[in-house]
Amino acid sequence: MSTNIVKVAGVEVSTDHWIGGKRVASKEKFANFSPIDGSHLADISAGGKSEADAAVAAARKAFPAWAALGPKGRLPYLKKFAEGIRARANELAAVETMDNGSLLMGNIHRVVPRAAQNIEFFADWALTLDGHVIDSPEVVNHVKYDPAGVAVLITPWNAPLMLTTWKVGPALAAGNTVVVKPPEWAPLTCSLMADIAHEAGIPAGVLNVVQGIGEVAGDALVNHPDIDRISFTGSTDTAKIIGRAAASSITPLSAELGGKSPFIVCADADLEAAAQTVAGQYMNAGQVCLAGTRIMVEKKIEEEFLEKVRTAASHMVLGDPRDKNTRVGPLIHKEHFARVVGFVERAKADGAVPLWGGSQANIGELYFEPTLFAQVSPGLEISQKEVFGPVLTWQSFTSDDEVVALANNTRYGLAGTLFSQNEKRAMDIASRVTAGTFWVNCFFIRDLAAPFGGAKDSGLGREGGNWSFDFYSDIKNIAVRKDSFAG
Ligand code: NAD
Repeated sequence: MSTNIVKVAGVEVSTDHWIGGKRVASKEKFANFSPIDGSHLADISAGGKSEADAAVAAARKAFPAWAALGPKGRLPYLKKFAEGIRARANELAAVETMDNGSLLMGNIHRVVPRAAQNIEFFADWALTLDGHVIDSPEVVNHVKYDPAGVAVLITPWNAPLMLTTWKVGPALAAGNTVVVKPPEWAPLTCSLMADIAHEAGIPAGVLNVVQGIGEVAGDALVNHPDIDRISFTGSTDTAKIIGRAAASSITPLSAELGGKSPFIVCADADLEAAAQTVAGQYMNAGQVCLAGTRIMVEKKIEEEFLEKVRTAASHMVLGDPRDKNTRVGPLIHKEHFARVVGFVERAKADGAVPLWGGSQANIGELYFEPTLFAQVSPGLEISQKEVFGPVLTWQSFTSDDEVVALANNTRYGLAGTLFSQNEKRAMDIASRVTAGTFWVNCFFIRDLAAPFGGAKDSGLGREGGNWSFDFYSDIKNIAVRKDSFAG
């Protein structure tokens, strides 16, 4: 067994793959840096076809026994797994912060507890799946949720632990075995997750981790002939590539993708609450898929509301994400930083005007000032494309029809937010905006039982509650002729 270990934030992390219950090293490595200060954290084993083959074979071998346990038999393992995540909460949070620059306090209080809940919630939910019966005149239809087989799970760097467990939880609870491909810019907490699963007694091969570059390791996994599901979270462009692989083997694909979500503020809103929530869109430097980045304000309160947002945004302290007062940390990587700068410079060239921000902050290489662009016509790139940085746009509207049209005027449809104290108006606008999730007078609240996903270019399919099991299971109907077993 290989023992390539680094210490990050005082925590020992293996830099190798986890395949068939063993640490496996690759000769080839990729370097991993902290966005906080650019420090070199680790050289990580870079997998390719042979590691993908080994991991899928290990998952295939482990599948029959894991599937045969049934939801009740799997429950104790998954509960222990969740407990293990909770027991190492501070370590996971500290490593995630070093690795992707997300806020330490958010990781401790929100992300890691949620990661544990992702495992536990779906393990409990799986107990409720079978036993569903549909009575018809000649037969009784018994609906069964059979495990699908081997699931490949691919996640992005902005919330690796949260998003990986959101897939691992239901996939394992449904009786599948999994191969996880962590993001190359932030792979470390997925490695710790494998240790925790092992300590919880999850059998060898049930959970495997193949690290590596997306176009190499990810590509080998999604094109593997012996897989049964692909669950992907990441960019729309990558989803199109993975979609072609899935189509060629007719492998069901779930895709949770980017967004350019509207944030609508009506004149009748609680403006203080709305302004605080707008400023909150800068959290984690705006590297949040669900962020409401297109602010749309009813014309008659525009000036008053802008001043409230200005005040709220001035409290969004930019700095080291380990500091408890920080609200806006660094961007993940210099490539991503250059991408964000590119969007900002092109927006300025297109005639958009920064009301604040618009430049690199002078506190480190990857820190960018919270930015708000006005004078953005709907056709501009900055109104249409996902920046994935601390960059918002500001538009005004005079009628509900106008704001609905503005909100729907992108290729995306991930989320939306609206503040209004008029219930009828709020529900009318909410129902007319195309989005997987739409928040009214709140933001970012996601119940694991609720459907989650994106419309249009923001995704394919829904997960959460039963929707996760619809995806991770082969649903079967056993239709039994009535009275055929009578006597
Ligand atoms: P990305 O698409 O570049 O990468 C995501 C993952 O896909 C990584 O693990 C990467 O290695 C892998 N990958 C890349 N090319 C691949 C290929 N050819 N085959 C297989 N795998 C491949 O995305 P990113 O930059 O890591 O993440 C940011 C994007 O993710 C944003 O668009 C953001 O909105 C989106 N996102 C969406 C959600 C959601 O729930 N809808 C959540 C978080 C992030």
